[in-house]
Amino acid sequence: MPDGLHGEPDRQKCRGFAPKGVGVEWFGPDLGECPPGKTDLTGGFRVSKSDVDVVVVGAGFAGMYLLHELRANGFSSRVLEAGDDVGGTWYWNRYPGARCDISTTDYSYTWDPELHDQWTWSEKHAAQPEILKYAQFVAKKHDLYSGIDFNVKVTGAVWNDSTKRWTINASTGETITARHYVMATGCLSVPKDPDIPGTDRYQGPVYVTGRWPHEGVDFTGKRVAVIGTGSSSIQSIPHIAAQASELVVFQRTPNYSMPAFNGPQPADRVARLKGDRKAYEAEARLSSAGVPMEMPTVSALGVSRDEAFAMLEKSWQKGELLAIGATFMDVGTNREANEVICDFMRSKIKEVVKDPETAELLSPRGHAYGTKRPCMDTNYFQTFNLPHVRLVDLRKKPITSITETGIEFGDESKDFDAIVYATGFDAMTGAIVNVDITGKNGLTLKKKWEHGPLTYLGLTSVGFPNFYMITGPGSPSVLSNMMVSIEQHVEWIRDTLVDLREAGFDTIEATPVAEEGWRVHCTDCADITLFQDTNSWYMGANVPGKPRVLFPYIGGVGRYRQTCDEVRARGYLGFELSGSGKAQRNDGIVRQVQPDVDMVLEMMAQMGLPSMDSMSPAEARAFSEASSAMRPPGPEVGEMIDGTLPGAGGPLEYRLYRPATKGPHPVVVYFHGGGWVFGSHVSDDPLCRDLCKNADVLIVSVNYRHAPEDRFPAAADDGYAALQWVAANAASLGGDPSRIAVAGWSAGGNVAAVAAQLARDNGGPSLKGQLLLTPVTDGSRQHGSHHENADGFILTKSLMEWFWNHYADESDRSHPKASPLLASNLAGLPPAMVVTAQFDPLRDEGDAYARALMGAGVPVEHLQARGHIHTSITMVDALPSGKPPRAQMAAALRRFLA
Ligand SMILES: Cc1cc2nc3c(=O)[nH]c(=O)nc-3n(C[C@H](O)[C@H](O)[C@H](O)COP(=O)(O)OP(=O)(O)OC[C@H]3O[C@@H](n4cnc5c(N)ncnc54)[C@H](O)[C@@H]3O)c2cc1C
Repeated sequence: MPDGLHGEPDRQKCRGFAPKGVGVEWFGPDLGECPPGKTDLTGGFRVSKSDVDVVVVGAGFAGMYLLHELRANGFSSRVLEAGDDVGGTWYWNRYPGARCDISTTDYSYTWDPELHDQWTWSEKHAAQPEILKYAQFVAKKHDLYSGIDFNVKVTGAVWNDSTKRWTINASTGETITARHYVMATGCLSVPKDPDIPGTDRYQGPVYVTGRWPHEGVDFTGKRVAVIGTGSSSIQSIPHIAAQASELVVFQRTPNYSMPAFNGPQPADRVARLKGDRKAYEAEARLSSAGVPMEMPTVSALGVSRDEAFAMLEKSWQKGELLAIGATFMDVGTNREANEVICDFMRSKIKEVVKDPETAELLSPRGHAYGTKRPCMDTNYFQTFNLPHVRLVDLRKKPITSITETGIEFGDESKDFDAIVYATGFDAMTGAIVNVDITGKNGLTLKKKWEHGPLTYLGLTSVGFPNFYMITGPGSPSVLSNMMVSIEQHVEWIRDTLVDLREAGFDTIEATPVAEEGWRVHCTDCADITLFQDTNSWYMGANVPGKPRVLFPYIGGVGRYRQTCDEVRARGYLGFELSGSGKAQRNDGIVRQVQPDVDMVLEMMAQMGLPSMDSMSPAEARAFSEASSAMRPPGPEVGEMIDGTLPGAGGPLEYRLYRPATKGPHPVVVYFHGGGWVFGSHVSDDPLCRDLCKNADVLIVSVNYRHAPEDRFPAAADDGYAALQWVAANAASLGGDPSRIAVAGWSAGGNVAAVAAQLARDNGGPSLKGQLLLTPVTDGSRQHGSHHENADGFILTKSLMEWFWNHYADESDRSHPKASPLLASNLAGLPPAMVVTAQFDPLRDEGDAYARALMGAGVPVEHLQARGHIHTSITMVDALPSGKPPRAQMAAALRRFLA
């Protein structure tokens, strides 16, 4: 790197001698004291304007890049920073051993391509001084220092709805007005106060990892206490132990940590970067966590334990933060799969730590891997083999008080020469709500976020026009390589400001509908993961009184970026814009499909699969069978028996699913999906197993005749014939003949609904209930959802046409045996559960059937599955979001058949 750019910044500052409302900084050579009473604002003095386009708070990597982009696009700005240099995290966290744990190949700016040649990282995981130097280097290279006011803490900001500007109050007494206000205040910039009694009493030196003295600390020969075992302590403990005469580590919750194997940057990544940097960066931006990774395709439960451990060992040896978690596809959503990693990590601790009791104490139990930030270390666990290092389990020996000379814990009292608090951060929202931010109608952000942060895209918040957060709650943020996330947010804000200016708008504000939609989407994403089960700082659980929600967005960096881009491309969907004499409100919700369903849709789109309605029935059947062969099998049941029963036109195959519990069980006659054209008695196997197990019912899944070979009313007649046979033979099948219900999915839901009507009209059998999952109920296909959800959700409008064309003549379609909704009378039918899916062409006809049944006095439970598509609820063990509706379906069957 060139000399002169890599050293300490040579800026000098003076303040407090300019006219009111104007801050002045000196950027010339060191003149010593500022001239008293100086008001001449020429020469080497820079006038800091008190009214600008944009005020940015924070001069970490986010604030620095934003300043660069604002300048490049002609916006006037002020960047206000509490510290006295750039770097943010890397300015404040100077504790020994502080390093990045995302590899420097990835933890670097990408916006200035020259940097790649001008800066060479010395290590894979660079230490804090080197990262700080990098920030300083960039700041000097791009003259950023001249745009930043250091030692200025922002204390408040108020939106003025008449002037459409923010007024920002600084600790210096200065007031600045700005059209736009950006919090680039960092997610981990406010150390959490230790909630331990007596902290004020201690007379010796106290250190906080997130506010470490710039001159460093010498612990040589000292008795030192470290409180906390998160990432900062895991990095610093080996260094402190190397100096201290005695080290006691106070641990509340052990953490998963893996060795960093630090050294030069990984050769494979360097080679990929050198080979095609642009492609590498593009991959990072569209990846799940901001680092190019191969997406796992193997379940941790789909291989033997030995194989799983061998695969994890390979990931372990990479020394990359994300490698272990990316070994298997299901560790984020399946506790059992996650436990395989936990076991592996614990086995590693046992290998290293000699004292078995200490090893056990250091072994995390009770929280899933990845639901607390995993750590990377250099000799952390080894440190506990040293004779002068002791681990105290705070769960057994809580600290009762800090004293004047040391710490009282359990039944012990011990003196220390220094105490180190490594008690973490008030993460994600701490720095934002530390500033008194008042939006429209006197609403403060702190008050609005009382029960959890509410944002649109993690970037904006309703009631706070022209206010933006970088890596705020509701964005991938701390669940990503932050460099990628920071750059994406800066660029989105920059582009938005440019768009507003070009279109003549002065303000932008999210709409309540969009914000609520984003909250729901974030919750949907969180709900399918294991995060919510763990008390972590991701969940706000480390700060007493903080609302307990998953603060970052877990949907992935790439998907999030696409969402932000889409919002902009769709004319700022979910935003209200206004300017002199003009306004635009483009209300709407950007992500409504369940996140796991969305991923499947995207995967299928990428695979470019042919549409089934372009195939012959034989081809469609083969295609459907091949797809079914790849899905998870569903839960174990007690027994499965295949057989045949007499149908209306000949024998029909069936599969019986018996629960493992003691019978006789109530019986459900089940009809599969497949548009009357494909599918069989085994094609809905996972769903049948799931219902059998969770409803504790015996299921007989029947293979009715298929079109076009056997057209209407073959399927309907077979369905009713099968129901009659099963009812007559229930006892010999091991079922209870007095408790029988029908169930079916899609075309099978149609067959089930028709069978229930035929049973009512033809003297039995008497049914206790009907479960209809996204059923076909009306051959007219006139319902709005056929148009609204015509394409893009697997079952398309044209595929439905194809099914009907194969199954029934137009003239037959209004017959109640084809369209149960059109039956003249629905009274007297058994209680029903009707499940419809939001993004299903069949949604409205299913909803209409539920309403019509209710209107006829039939007890109905109507579940409108939000964010689901026609097929998603049947995808057992593949889509976690289908589990709650299936649980409701099982509960309904239990109720019907109680
Ligand atoms: C020890 C540690 C290690 C980390 N390692 C990694 C890693 O390996 N990979 C990764 O992706 N991320 C890592 N992070 C996260 C890290 O915070 C981000 O990568 C990144 O540095 C954040 O940059 P930022 O500019 O958004 O925020 P920060 O760097 O936190 O900067 C925010 C700045 O805002 C200033 N500020 C806050 N409030 C005010 C106010 N009211 N008035 C004035 N100024 C204010 C602060 O002083 C600070 O300088 C780590 C964090 C820590 C603490």
